[in-house]
Amino acid sequence: MSNDKKIKKKLLRYTVFMIIVGTVLIVSAVCIVYTSKKAENNSHVAYVNAILGEYKLNFSNKIESDLSTLVSVADMIEQGYISKDDIIKDVFTYFPKNSEFEKIGYYSIEAENKIITLDGSNIKYEFSNSPEKEKQTIRSAWQGNQTVSEVYTEDGKDKICYAVPVYEDGKVDGAITANIYLDKFVDIINANTLDGIKINIAWVNKSGDIIEYSEANILQGKRADIIKKAWSNKESFQFTSPVVKKIDIVLEKDTYPLYSIEIGHNGWSIVYIDSEGEVISPVYSAIFILVVIFMLLILFCFLVMLYTFKYIKNDKKTILSLADYDQLTKVYNTGEFINQVEQLYDNSADYYSVILNFRHFQYINNIFGRNIADKILIRTADILKSNLATDELVCRYRSDEFCMLLKSKDKKQLKNRILNIMDNISGISAKLQNEYAIKLYCGVSFRKADKQKKLPIADMLNEAEFALKTIKQGYDNNIAFYDSSVKEKKIFQNEIESSMEQALRNNEFKLFLQPKKNLLNNEIIGAEALVRWIKPDGKMIFPDEFIPLFEANGFCASLDLYMVDKVCALQRKWLENGKKIIPISVNQSKILFYRKDYIKNLCNITQKYGIDNKYIVLEILEGLVADDIETLNHTIAILREKGFQISMDDFGSGYSSLNTFTSIALDEIKLDKVFLRSIGTEKEQKQKQMMENIISIAKSFGIRTVTEGVETQVQETFLKSISCDYGQGYLYSKPISIDEFEEKYIN
Ligand code: C2E
Ligand code: MG
Ligand code: MG
Repeated sequence: MSNDKKIKKKLLRYTVFMIIVGTVLIVSAVCIVYTSKKAENNSHVAYVNAILGEYKLNFSNKIESDLSTLVSVADMIEQGYISKDDIIKDVFTYFPKNSEFEKIGYYSIEAENKIITLDGSNIKYEFSNSPEKEKQTIRSAWQGNQTVSEVYTEDGKDKICYAVPVYEDGKVDGAITANIYLDKFVDIINANTLDGIKINIAWVNKSGDIIEYSEANILQGKRADIIKKAWSNKESFQFTSPVVKKIDIVLEKDTYPLYSIEIGHNGWSIVYIDSEGEVISPVYSAIFILVVIFMLLILFCFLVMLYTFKYIKNDKKTILSLADYDQLTKVYNTGEFINQVEQLYDNSADYYSVILNFRHFQYINNIFGRNIADKILIRTADILKSNLATDELVCRYRSDEFCMLLKSKDKKQLKNRILNIMDNISGISAKLQNEYAIKLYCGVSFRKADKQKKLPIADMLNEAEFALKTIKQGYDNNIAFYDSSVKEKKIFQNEIESSMEQALRNNEFKLFLQPKKNLLNNEIIGAEALVRWIKPDGKMIFPDEFIPLFEANGFCASLDLYMVDKVCALQRKWLENGKKIIPISVNQSKILFYRKDYIKNLCNITQKYGIDNKYIVLEILEGLVADDIETLNHTIAILREKGFQISMDDFGSGYSSLNTFTSIALDEIKLDKVFLRSIGTEKEQKQKQMMENIISIAKSFGIRTVTEGVETQVQETFLKSISCDYGQGYLYSKPISIDEFEEKYIN
């Protein structure tokens, strides 16, 4: 899936998630608002009940305490503490001057009136002159009742009157009265509750008329109408608590919940019209804060969502380019390259994947600096891009590697195209004005059009990488095409290396022998030991396939001594069997010669089998001479001293020098088979002359000569004519197993 699709998918998932979260938040908000509204309603009603209860209490307390003041005066008159005759003088003793009463009085049933105003002036009133409401109250007291009058007006001022009976000898004798201005009750209406709250209430009489109301009220005009309407519907009042009743009054389409509580005197009530939401309970405010916080939270989430979407939308391009493109060179990265290949793939085309690598890019980095190195990469990417045809791709594969997917019908054409691209890239250095010649090499893999399958791009990249690795370091632009046999060889070599130790322990390495013939008397005077690896399944592997590997990995040192061991064991067997013993040549690899314990190990083997060292000929290669001639000579000298014979193998195959004769002490040289291969070619004469001279020089130094690769009688005749001592080759025998060798030459 492409990164674009991946991001779109992620965005979709993210959106769905946000929508779910948003919905959950909104639903819970609605639930919270609903339940809190309900709770708030309940708590509001309870709160109104409590406040009205408090107002009622204040009201009735006031009335009760006024009445009980009068009752105590009545008691004192009854008990003779205050004389009815001198009530005016005595009452001052019991009434403080700052009493709330306007005046108090005593009305005897015989209508003897004594009145005192609380400013101290003593005025006599006539019962008959009293306002009607006052008269009614006094009469009620004469009948033995403690009474509170309804509101009445006197001298332009609203007031009420209290009256309590005064007894003498168990019979009502008169009534003690007190008048109080309405203002004192207005104070109660306007007072704060214990919670410090003040609400707009009205004091209403039993007919629904307003006696007094608190200072401000938005409903001023409508209030009287609402109360009147409520009083005309008194049977519809509902109790919201044992004492508070409620009714919803609809007036001009608006609904006004009206709460009322009776004071307990004269059918008076305290009324509260809940229209302004002025009663805000503490629970309500807590719920309100909660709802506000919740709403803010939703808003915040919503804003975050909105911002994220906007951000993602704006930066989608950047994100996409970060995910899909190499930031330095602006070509695809490998991941996106592979995605694109899948999308572009046309199954009727032949495809090549090409991995391009710079030679010594680390050097460019170190010497010219990162900046220049980066510029080279950027320009390279530009060149590669400009060389693409439709439906071809390029990506930055690794730090200094680019990969291209190219289409071509013809391999040669493609090769030229790549070489041309590489030349263009080499030209960058001139543009950057430095002398360094940028060189590249590349590995290429190929897939023929395949109608059935998808393009196996991962395999193609592996193959191109493998091909790339087969190119040796050099100074040219090179191309290597993937060759499956090269890879198979590599796999084979890996197998060999992983199984060699085990093979040695299992005796899979077998000793084969190839005889050496004395050309003077035609006798077999020796043999060369040659190794064969015979696998458990019987498959035979020849030394050419593994010796170079073992030389490189050091295993040859073990193998060569193992072969010496096998040779000595064989010679010992021959001795035991009373057979003639012949010298056997063993090939010794270069690394052995520089091992400190080499000579000791070698001697240990010959001693173990009791074989005279002279029966062992050590074949060394010319290459040794080039390395460290002093160490070599020193080793050879000791070996020869110990009786071993030294033979120079493959003489003439490499850069042999006649100096060899003088610089190292040899017993034998083996002329390489290439000399004989030239017989029958135009070089024949010269090569023959060369062999003759080499042999003659060797003889002059007392060195024995052997020629390898004798395959024909003609070759043997020639060797005899130039006095070569020994011959070795298929003419006499191929390397053969011990059994075969013993049968042919020993028995
Ligand atoms: P080399 O020591 O020069 O051995 C001679 C090679 O020439 C042998 O190949 C032999 O089979 C081949 N040969 C002999 N006569 C003829 C002929 O008439 N015509 C042709 N065309 N070839 C002939 P082989 O056995 O495959 O060995 C190849 C090389 O492997 C040897 O070359 C030697 O360098 C190395 N080698 C073999 N065994 C050992 C070993 O035990 N240790 C080490 N270090 N190297 C070994
Ligand atoms: Mg040899
Ligand atoms: Mg040889």
